[in-house]
Amino acid sequence: MSDTLLRSVDLIEPGAIVIYHGSLTSLHGTAWLAVPCTCGICDAADRLGLPNVRFALIDPWSELPGPFHVRRESLTRSAACG
Ligand SMILES: [Zn+2]
Repeated sequence: MSDTLLRSVDLIEPGAIVIYHGSLTSLHGTAWLAVPCTCGICDAADRLGLPNVRFALIDPWSELPGPFHVRRESLTRSAACG
């Protein structure tokens, strides 16, 4: 059912260029550099075994504040860089 989604999610590697399509609409429409977030909050969620392992989104051009902590499932890999 959600196999396709899960597969695409699994393709996101550290440093991948991604598109964010989650609830933070101000982050839509631009490409982000995604790295696994190791901050305290995300690390705790990871150790608790929560499925929503978080990524930090970094603006490659440093024009926007960040990083933003987002759920992996809110990301798709950018087709432009795939
Ligand atoms: Zn974090």
